[in-house]
Amino acid sequence: MGKEIKTIHDLPGVGAQGAEKLLAAGYKSLEAIAVASPMELQEAASLGEGTADKAIKAARDALEMGYETADKLAKKRELVGRITTGSAEVDGLIGGGIETQSITEIYGKFASGKSQWCFETAVTVQLPKEKGGLGGNCLYIDSENSFRPERVIQVANHLGLDSEKVLKNIFVARAYNADHQMLLAEKAADMITDKKIKLVIVDSLMAQFRAEFVGRGQLAGRQQKLNRHMRTLMKLAEMNNIAVLVTNQVMSRPDILFGDPTAPVGGNIVAHASKTRLYLRKSKGDKRVAKLVDSPSLPDGEALYRITENGVEDV
Ligand code: ADP
Ligand code: MG
Repeated sequence: MGKEIKTIHDLPGVGAQGAEKLLAAGYKSLEAIAVASPMELQEAASLGEGTADKAIKAARDALEMGYETADKLAKKRELVGRITTGSAEVDGLIGGGIETQSITEIYGKFASGKSQWCFETAVTVQLPKEKGGLGGNCLYIDSENSFRPERVIQVANHLGLDSEKVLKNIFVARAYNADHQMLLAEKAADMITDKKIKLVIVDSLMAQFRAEFVGRGQLAGRQQKLNRHMRTLMKLAEMNNIAVLVTNQVMSRPDILFGDPTAPVGGNIVAHASKTRLYLRKSKGDKRVAKLVDSPSLPDGEALYRITENGVEDV
């Protein structure tokens, strides 16, 4: 029997220097090591491949990770919280609101209302549970410079909240490029407990990645980075019981002749990481449609809602 592993410093082969490097790179707990990939650790702390593998395995063993009985998973599911979208129709479609412990993706064309959903939920997450919130705060990663405090104020006023207070509970960071966006997501872990974060928003997920990786030849590199980003966001959601809401752009698919020829960008990586996917589109007047495209536990369907000065509302 080796010695008991309680902190990163106890991991075999890592050494004091390696442990410091891991800490500096944000791997502060055995949990963080246990869910990392060997590649990540090799990069973060210049560990050899074998050492990284062993460290991860040791962290997993120490935490008794691996199989969990289904009753424990059921207990964890019971803790899932939900944030109202502002529309009871839409909430119903997605099982009661935007859920914690996973990523929800909303995608649609330009001006389909994606950012409006972000403004709305940045406010509603602050509501108490009985009013559809989680009594928590919002961390907002803005990659398109589209965050609008004046819209947040309108939504807050409509819900009878003190808009000054509401604004103080939304922590906004501009992401200037894909690496910066990834870093902001990685750093988010530190803020979640400190600032009582219950919702992390990324608006938009792909804009920076698309701008930077243009040619076909760059696709593999882009997807690798994107994969890491999605894993970071998934871990944030699962390990902290918070909701992650990302917006996504669409591309037209010339191969689809019938029906709607638009599809979300980001390929399989984004598709697999997003547990709930909603397609937003305009309808007549101020009416809009949200279509549930992919959910592991709910039937596909559509809900009608509106976007007004007050935010997201029922028709
Ligand atoms: P995107 O999907 O590109 O993020 P937005 O969320 O910015 O789109 O949605 C823009 C749309 O939201 C506008 O075209 C308009 O229909 C609606 N909208 C924005 N502000 C208001 C407002 N104050 N009152 C009513 N509708 C608004
Ligand atoms: Mg937008």
